[in-house]
Amino acid sequence: MPSAGAATAAGRVLEVSGQGEELLFMLFPQLAGLRVERVEDVGDAVVIWACCRAPQARCPLCGSVSSRVHGGYARVVADGAAGGRPVLIILSVRRFRCLDPVCVKVTFAGQAEGLTGRYRRRSVPLPGMLAGFGLELAGRAAARLAGALGVPVHSSTALRLVMALPDPLVTAAPQVTGSMISRCARGRWTARWWPTRNPAT
Ligand SMILES: [Zn+2]
Repeated sequence: MPSAGAATAAGRVLEVSGQGEELLFMLFPQLAGLRVERVEDVGDAVVIWACCRAPQARCPLCGSVSSRVHGGYARVVADGAAGGRPVLIILSVRRFRCLDPVCVKVTFAGQAEGLTGRYRRRSVPLPGMLAGFGLELAGRAAARLAGALGVPVHSSTALRLVMALPDPLVTAAPQVTGSMISRCARGRWTARWWPTRNPAT
């Protein structure tokens, strides 16, 4: 959703090269692994056309590195926002042939490091940002904030991203010994959680 009063030039296409590309990498460092071809203003979104720079990729199954290109396709990756509008990356992806003759993967798609992942429709940094909104604000408020910033997301998606976060490290509860309790009782402070002894028992 465009921000109120935002001046857009829908339909404008800018070819990107040289310093223009460096400027993009400064503003969007997650794009550093791409060769950006052009940026298009489509009114309610900014579309970046790009392809992966890496001439080779590692098979996700056996780990062998391959530069033998088997084919390619285009995928759409949702990134953050620019000027209150979502940024979509139309990425040309190469499919490589695995060089390990016994690997059952046969072919696999190359990934842009720091930007894409297997079966992900969102860029690598985006879910972390949305999960942060969900963690602080819960579902509906997180969705409203994300929409206002130009990254529309459903409230249930924000909560699902929070649930997908790794659990915080939980340390074992301290063991309370008798000597600790007696030191506590002799000191100036006492542990409020220590139950009051019933004189009748
Ligand atoms: Zn393989």
